[in-house]
Amino acid sequence: MKIDKFIFKKPYLIAGPCSAESEGQLLKTAHLIKDIVDVFRAGIWKPRTKPNTFEGVGEKGLQWLQKIKKETGLKIATEIATPQHVEKCLKAEIDMLWIGARTTVNPFYVQEIAEALKGVRIPVFVKNPIHPELGLWLGALERLNKVGIKKLAAIHRGFFSYEDAAFRNDPKWELPIKLREQLPHIPIICDPSHIAGDSEMIEEVSQTAMDLNLNGLMIETHHKPNEALSDAKQQITPNKLHKIIGNLVLRKTKTDDDFFNIKLNEFRENIDVLDRKIVSILSDRKKIVEEIAHFKQANKITIFQLERWFEILKYRKKDAFDFAMDEKMIAEIFELIHKYSILTQTKIMRNTNAEKVENKRNG
Ligand code: PEP
Ligand code: MN
Repeated sequence: MKIDKFIFKKPYLIAGPCSAESEGQLLKTAHLIKDIVDVFRAGIWKPRTKPNTFEGVGEKGLQWLQKIKKETGLKIATEIATPQHVEKCLKAEIDMLWIGARTTVNPFYVQEIAEALKGVRIPVFVKNPIHPELGLWLGALERLNKVGIKKLAAIHRGFFSYEDAAFRNDPKWELPIKLREQLPHIPIICDPSHIAGDSEMIEEVSQTAMDLNLNGLMIETHHKPNEALSDAKQQITPNKLHKIIGNLVLRKTKTDDDFFNIKLNEFRENIDVLDRKIVSILSDRKKIVEEIAHFKQANKITIFQLERWFEILKYRKKDAFDFAMDEKMIAEIFELIHKYSILTQTKIMRNTNAEKVENKRNG
């Protein structure tokens, strides 16, 4: 993918309200944050989960954004979801566009938007799809790049989850990291507002994003969050934005300090030894699983046994407690181990069955 760099500082900061509500609201907010932000954001067309909620002010908001640009000198960005939105934004000289999480999920929409952006040179940001599917996120970036958009960035805004969680959208930090592995040159902006869903947790999520070396932040900011027409709970005041940005600790990725580097290498060598031990133990475990498979096969017993799985889970959670480990983490690891144990057993049974059929056929 051919990418042009357009983000030169960390954290690159995009802030502004969830929705444009009035010219006054945009102006007040923009003037209070213009000293620290790189781009001013505001949604004009709002994708709301339910009808009969505020769905954005529409086209007239574009003129308000133009006014912000003129008065503050800030770059302005908004969300587009259709080719018509693109056309209107280009006419209004919006500087940057983003594709929302509800649009990234659909390759038809993304392709239509990409066609409308053919030959356009402005930066485009792509939010991750609502559900954790890396392919769709990568696919959307590729579709835009294919029509010639070279100033591209990804926005990590977390993922919908049915599980009870502290966050509105589960961050699943491993996904932006995987995206970085696949597309190392694409900047990744974290959107702590949509991850946290709560103004009290924006700071914590922003710090984690910086610690994971993401490039920037998109933070919903409103001069009166309590009166916001959308996402009121997660918007912060301009004052709080200044505080959060001021408190961020920006850690370096590398240092020339020899003492630090030698010590870090020692730690890493210890980790490598332990990791090798874990793999060796998993290999011993797999051998027993294979024996069990043959044994079950000979005795005509099914592979998956629910009670045994519950028992494993119960004992491993107790082990987790005894070793002061996070129960959820241990449970997740064993779910994966158990999944592969079942796959190993199915493979053995399939092979032995096939062998039997073959032997029968041969006489
Ligand atoms: C937004 O940025 O206001 C928005 C609607 O975001 P998302 O697409 O991440 O839900
Ligand atoms: Mn929002």
